[in-house]
Amino acid sequence: MDKSSQERCIQCRLIVQECICRGISPFWSEHRITLLTSKREERIISNTGRLLRFMLGNISAVYIGRKGWEKEVESEIARTNYTPVILFPIPPVHNGQKIVEETGKPLNIFVLDTSWRNARRWLHKPVLMNLKKIGLNTVPPSEYYLRKQSAENYLCTFQAVTLLLAELGTEGFDSVSLQINEKFKLWVKSLARQRGLTRTTTLQSRSFSKN
Ligand SMILES: [Zn+2]
Repeated sequence: MDKSSQERCIQCRLIVQECICRGISPFWSEHRITLLTSKREERIISNTGRLLRFMLGNISAVYIGRKGWEKEVESEIARTNYTPVILFPIPPVHNGQKIVEETGKPLNIFVLDTSWRNARRWLHKPVLMNLKKIGLNTVPPSEYYLRKQSAENYLCTFQAVTLLLAELGTEGFDSVSLQINEKFKLWVKSLARQRGLTRTTTLQSRSFSKN
């Protein structure tokens, strides 16, 4: 049977035999995630923001370009029980942990769930301009080899968010992060296998694109 016609899970989008969704109950994080995405991005099977949306509880998505999206962003920014910040790992960035200590509030972390090129464009939308930028303290190698990243230290949405939640010392995250990272690795592996990709070939193309 043609692989593209195989039935896929509507949530993780893997072929049903390899679905990773069983046994996942969303983790409620004290820090909120506001995922900025688009309808186009959502249709892409290798999109990793979608994984966060069923693995985390305190998360919502705003579709950039959809009617009223700026109002939705404004009301997320206006939530008084959080400090709004945007995750964008290009210096200069603030330290997220420090902001939490200074304000005594958890963060509402805006995450640009799109390609790096688009993310740079979205970052300059007027409604996002005044958000404090935060980054990661340490950037490990990417586990995601489905799309070509423009530089080695650029992570996919899933890895960037889960690493940030760990760095922020998010309460209770320790006990679930191993499981959700294992699920993520399985998901990448399954999609890569379907596409005939191996880790080695993408690493080669990555070091090639760096030159
Ligand atoms: Zn699934």
